[in-house]
Amino acid sequence: LNFEVGRRVEGERNVVDAYLFPEKSIEEHVVDLVKRLGKGGLVFAPMDKGSEYVTTLAKTLKEHGIKAEAYTSARKKLLDQFVNGEIEVLVGVASYRSPLARGLDLPETVRYAVFAGIPKFKISLDLRERFHTFKLFILLANIVELLEGEELDEWSRKLSWLRTTLSRLTSEQELILNRAIVENEQLTGRLEHIRQRILEIRDQLQKLLEREDIKEKIKTSPRLTLEENAYLITADAVAYLQASGRTSRMFIGGMTKGLSVLIVDNEKAFRGLLSRLKWLEDIQFVDFREVNIESLLEEIDRDRKLIADLRRGIISPRIRDIRKTALLIVESPNKARTIAWFFGEPTKRTLEGVPIYDTSAEEFFLTIAATGGHVVDLTLRDTGFMGVIVKDEVFIPVYSTIKRCMQCGYQFLDSDQCPNCKSKEYSDSLNRINAIRELAEEADIVLIGTDPDTEGEKIAWDIAVLISPYAKEIRRVEFHEVTRKAVKEALHSMRDIDLNLVKAQIIRRIEDRWIGFSLTETLWKSRFFKKVSAGRVQTPVLGWILERYKEYKKRKGFNFKVTLENNLTVSLGIHKITGRRKDEKLEEFKQKLLSSKAVIEDVKVKEDTINPPPPYTTDEMIRDASRILRLSPEETMRIAQSLFEAGLITYHRTDSHRVSTTGIGVAKSYIEENIDASMFKARVWGEGGAHECIRPTRPIDTSMLKRLINEGILRLPEKLSWGHYALYDIIFKRFIASQMIPGKVKVIEATVKIPEINFETKIEGICQIIEEGFTKMYKPPLKMIPEISEGEYRIVDVFYFRASEVYPYTEGEVVDLMRKRGIGRPSTYAAIISILKKREYVRCRQQRLIPTQKAYIVYSFLTKNFSDMVSEERTRLLENYMRKVEEGELDYIEVLKELYREVYEKVYSEQPIR
Ligand SMILES: [Zn+2]
Repeated sequence: LNFEVGRRVEGERNVVDAYLFPEKSIEEHVVDLVKRLGKGGLVFAPMDKGSEYVTTLAKTLKEHGIKAEAYTSARKKLLDQFVNGEIEVLVGVASYRSPLARGLDLPETVRYAVFAGIPKFKISLDLRERFHTFKLFILLANIVELLEGEELDEWSRKLSWLRTTLSRLTSEQELILNRAIVENEQLTGRLEHIRQRILEIRDQLQKLLEREDIKEKIKTSPRLTLEENAYLITADAVAYLQASGRTSRMFIGGMTKGLSVLIVDNEKAFRGLLSRLKWLEDIQFVDFREVNIESLLEEIDRDRKLIADLRRGIISPRIRDIRKTALLIVESPNKARTIAWFFGEPTKRTLEGVPIYDTSAEEFFLTIAATGGHVVDLTLRDTGFMGVIVKDEVFIPVYSTIKRCMQCGYQFLDSDQCPNCKSKEYSDSLNRINAIRELAEEADIVLIGTDPDTEGEKIAWDIAVLISPYAKEIRRVEFHEVTRKAVKEALHSMRDIDLNLVKAQIIRRIEDRWIGFSLTETLWKSRFFKKVSAGRVQTPVLGWILERYKEYKKRKGFNFKVTLENNLTVSLGIHKITGRRKDEKLEEFKQKLLSSKAVIEDVKVKEDTINPPPPYTTDEMIRDASRILRLSPEETMRIAQSLFEAGLITYHRTDSHRVSTTGIGVAKSYIEENIDASMFKARVWGEGGAHECIRPTRPIDTSMLKRLINEGILRLPEKLSWGHYALYDIIFKRFIASQMIPGKVKVIEATVKIPEINFETKIEGICQIIEEGFTKMYKPPLKMIPEISEGEYRIVDVFYFRASEVYPYTEGEVVDLMRKRGIGRPSTYAAIISILKKREYVRCRQQRLIPTQKAYIVYSFLTKNFSDMVSEERTRLLENYMRKVEEGELDYIEVLKELYREVYEKVYSEQPIR
């Protein structure tokens, strides 16, 4: 009875999924189909028609001269007859428990499946009647999608609890629990606690189901049906996947081709099925009448013949002739796990701490291994010039393996104890490298699938160098989203490692080391600065923060806002009110305003078409996450990384707005189904190239995502937190908006004067949305103001608060500046700010960056003594050099020479330090 709630049913499948709208009785269609498709067929009856329907179908088939048998319990004899051809067709139920839908593994025999109706659940709305926890779960999962607001949150939590709890029970515990609930018996311990909680949920859900508005919502839902006012009918996607998957099984030459024909007996359930299968990108339903049956059957039978020949030894199963063995190396274990699951249930093992998954994909027996990030770094040993041997203008960087403390997680190099906690227990990337070498030796080809940017390229190169004596062939594969489609495409478009990217990353690291070490060393020498460190890029950024903070303090005062009798609120800006009697002065000014009149002039009303903003790049995502969600850049990037590795969004380190054809397809499908097809407008937003904007990989919004996870249809490598959902939500909305038509709005411009105090300002805002467009999904860029007309107005309200004309920067604003001024890049924005925080140069107060005393001293010291080195211009110039190296326009040795001169001459010359 274990219904495996958490089970993931996605697997490699090679099935043509066809649908058929019936033109005559369903039974007649089944007979026709079986006659046309021949032996090796499975016929599935939907659960809502009851188990007798299986017998009816089998009987009807027999009456038409087809050798069919009902298969409702596992019977070896029937299977043997099916395999040797005495039985042509087996008929069973389409449900997760049906012996015909699960566990049947006959790649040589099963050729197709026919569904005599959509696989469905029919669940009584009376929860006391024949209670079962599984029924409760399915019912709840379907009802949750009808709820909104707080009710949605509350019930999602209950659903999530139920799913987790049930999936942890053994089948015996589940049996006991269900019996106890039905018989109203008490249990003991944890099971009793669960029983109580389930009873509570059952009764609350019962009340919910009796509400008229909920019944109405079921009736009007595009995916659910209410039968006889007492039953809920909903699609069973898991049963469909399991049952249709019987036609496509793994064999030594790959996956057999299969055909599945779905007779649509209930359109709503069909829609529900499609929406649940949407996240499985390779399921595309086609109209059965458009399928070329002859050629498809030929293909199906070719596979079966190959299996038969292999079995009879007519051809020998020399695996290596049919499928190659490939080792795919990625950085993160989560990414490895996501990829492995695309191709069916993988086998997992570990070797020296490296998680390894074995599966098969396309023409490969695929082994996937995760390195766990960087494997080497510039050495800290006293070697050469800070880790780089310099000899006759030749530069040889020396690398050490990376160690990680088992006690505190600290990463270090070259030491045999953790510098942080002194523990001697650590893992060394050398062991991981050795494990990968071992795996590489066994593989025909090694594919390196590290992240698609310069850092990922450098890791790829490090690995390639380290394993090259052991590997037969090494290639680089690149994917910008962790989806099955993207990974499959990558397996067919291998390339060599891009050495220009690697060179750029090498000098970037050397520059960071040289400048950082030498500045820090000089600081230490000056005796005032013990234990402080500095770097090039951080310095101008720190300068902006300091400058801004100074401005903020200088321009502090009081902001007055007045509301006119026509409801318009106008800000008067900052008024400096200082000295003694401050409160009296403030009150006086307020009274003066209240007795004044405001004049509105030059009102211009125009209709305007406003376009959506482009989808996110890294800096824009960080800025909005900081502004809207109050997430720090570091948190944002960490969450984005995990969304990327879980396959939910495209690569999150990007400065491109471009939307690929796949991306446009995602938006189109979502808008057509959930908003309105006429609202869709394809927009590419950027130039070609491999890089793309940050966008969702599937047309699944946040509430659908929650639902798929709660129902156990989508299982991710890690549990999603509030932050994951929130970030996914803003990425999703911004992206969908970017593929929608413009909105038409009424914009008002006007001048507001208060003659008594000589005040004048221009205002602009939207007073009405005339025609919705992307505005349905995303807030328009201008604020909303009331409709106003010219004239003189009384001031009816005044309020004031401490404010400044400018505020200390938020982290998001600093990232925005970095991009505008060409300092830093998508992969370093967040790191630069987090270094400033870690070194205690800035602190975050109410989301704003406040410089510390130390920051002032160190910054003025650095700018006084090394103005050339740490200037914004110099930093930007180097950033440009790196970009040119990446593009192959500049020789990296030349850059290294210049860097060497810079550091050597300026830092180690005898100039006095002030
Ligand atoms: Zn430690």
